[in-house]
Amino acid sequence: MKLYNDMHVHTASSPDAELSASALCKIACSVPVGRIGFVAHLDMHPLDFCYGGFDEKRYLKELDNASAAGGPEVLRGLEIGEPHVYWDEASKLFHLKEYDFITGALHWLKNDLVLEESCFDNRNDPLELVEEYYREIRKMVSVADVDILAHMGIFRRGMVRAGLSTDFDETALFPEILREIFTAMLDRGIVLEVNTAGLRRPEKTTYPSPPVIALYRSIGGTAVTLGSDSHRKENAFFGLSAGARLLTEQGFTEAGFFRQRVYSGSPLQC
Ligand SMILES: [Zn+2]
Ligand SMILES: [Zn+2]
Repeated sequence: MKLYNDMHVHTASSPDAELSASALCKIACSVPVGRIGFVAHLDMHPLDFCYGGFDEKRYLKELDNASAAGGPEVLRGLEIGEPHVYWDEASKLFHLKEYDFITGALHWLKNDLVLEESCFDNRNDPLELVEEYYREIRKMVSVADVDILAHMGIFRRGMVRAGLSTDFDETALFPEILREIFTAMLDRGIVLEVNTAGLRRPEKTTYPSPPVIALYRSIGGTAVTLGSDSHRKENAFFGLSAGARLLTEQGFTEAGFFRQRVYSGSPLQC
């Protein structure tokens, strides 16, 4: 039987998620998911909903309990918001050696939360924000000590909420910035996440969108992870098979995982 690696799953150790790691492992057996990369939000932006909500001791205990039950393999991860900006502050709250992987996420551009519609208020041209977002991602992947780049392109969620069209192709609009992002990632061993949460939202797309994933592949990106970004029972592990199908169509042969911060590919089967 084919088993997926879901490398982006939140537990109740994130303030905006509800299920324990053990409960998620039980659900995983019926999906089927063979490995779960758990992440907890570690957000240091003072306006973030999850700011101050991370408790490493509690989180690691939760993962140990889930692992002891003997279900899917439990991989320990963190989702650090704006790691290129907040690494020093964030690193006081966790011990790097405890983790299998670190995921870097860009949620905030200064004081704008890119997945909220308010981010697009007072913008004459929403694509200016999109360009700013990619420039900031380029900074992140150039310096941050992360293994996975999370949900690149999540601004589409904010755009849809703001009633804006998301029918544009950033590989045509900002090809140089995207190429520089992917070149830095390949140089530094940062793997692209294909996040399937957008498939259950009105924008109905992965983050990144298919043309961006295709660009990554065309310049030599072969390593990817799949992540459902599950926060609740009803969307646990959602979209993994659709994500795997999309990757196969684009010529990828694997979607991997990190153990002790080393990537391994798993064959993709759809
Ligand atoms: Zn995120
Ligand atoms: Zn997440």
